[in-house]
Amino acid sequence: TQVAYKGGNPPKVLRVLINPRGGPGKALQIYLNQVEPILLEAGCEVEVTCTTRAGHAIELAQTIDLGYDALVIVSGDGLIHEVMNGLAKHPQPEKAFSIPIAPIPAGSGNGLSLNILGLQDGLDPCAAALNVLKGRPMKIDLLSFTQGNQKRISFMSQTVGLMADLDIETEHLRWMGDLRFVWGYLRGVMAHKTCKMEFSMKVTEHDKSRMVDALHARRTSAAKGLPFVSPSSEIVPNDDKHPGGPGSLDGGWVKFDKPVLWMAAGKGPYVSRSLMQFPVSHPDDGLVDISIQEVVGRKFLLDAMDGAEVGRSFWLNSNRYFKATAYRAKPLAPHGVLMVDGEAFPFEEFQIDVLHRLGTLISP
Ligand code: ADP
Ligand code: MG
Repeated sequence: TQVAYKGGNPPKVLRVLINPRGGPGKALQIYLNQVEPILLEAGCEVEVTCTTRAGHAIELAQTIDLGYDALVIVSGDGLIHEVMNGLAKHPQPEKAFSIPIAPIPAGSGNGLSLNILGLQDGLDPCAAALNVLKGRPMKIDLLSFTQGNQKRISFMSQTVGLMADLDIETEHLRWMGDLRFVWGYLRGVMAHKTCKMEFSMKVTEHDKSRMVDALHARRTSAAKGLPFVSPSSEIVPNDDKHPGGPGSLDGGWVKFDKPVLWMAAGKGPYVSRSLMQFPVSHPDDGLVDISIQEVVGRKFLLDAMDGAEVGRSFWLNSNRYFKATAYRAKPLAPHGVLMVDGEAFPFEEFQIDVLHRLGTLISP
């Protein structure tokens, strides 16, 4: 077929990758029934591949033709993680990363789609298909994830402790969709395991009120780029001073050595429908958000579920929240798991650094 248009306005030339095993296993059906009709109706040219195994999308992205207008990923966050890591290995990585990525939610964890389209539309494949046609490219920070001599990309989250366990221990429950994370949290609350780490970070901000002010300042200044989803009513600037400690930090390394229930770090407010883990995250502020849950009782953890989907737990005093340019973590327990973008990695020392505005998404 002839390609009539290229580069920008629809119709577009799209590379579509589908993970038929994502979430409840309906990704192909979702694509054929809800997404492809919209793309074809708009005159798009599509080249579609279903992945056949874990790691397949890394290979496909690594050799991707630079002529595509967008990469449409029909899956959960796991396949997007693979695509980002494939692009990083491309012979022309910067050009490869400038092909905008558009997620179509079809996994159990669809954090990226929620961050682009919000709670209303983020789990709707049709809304995501329309975003492919009508959205604009948006630069985002990615994170460099170093473990031993391996360097990889993380685009969303790194977790240890309860927030990691709730993901890995419910992988066999993919058929539940994102309810598996709620079930996993309840299990984690009952288990109530503490996690010891050597943790240090290059902190630029530790005062929650100032973080909220900075977020709103960025949102109102168009020059600073597009925001993720609009702020929830829970995250508004206010005059109450929240504990954060003395003045600004100089960005030097700061240690945090207390035992914790979990550490979660990353970019983008949502990690799932039921949890806005990083409510003050901005797509391209050059910073990684770090949320550390100090050890508190089970009742407290159950109460903290109330409003978690709008980021209310951000304000809890026992939730220590930092913005940093880098951090390093060394788990001290023999057993455990490190989850990066919902994928399992060895429970060993790692470092995260921000790759400012390396990635490109399609955003409304
Ligand atoms: P979910 O949100 O349910 O976790 P993801 O899209 O994140 O769904 O994918 C989960 C995992 O499936 C990823 O680790 C990915 O490597 C793996 N995967 C991709 N394609 C296939 C396939 N064809 N068969 C089995 N696993 C696959
Ligand atoms: Mg996943």
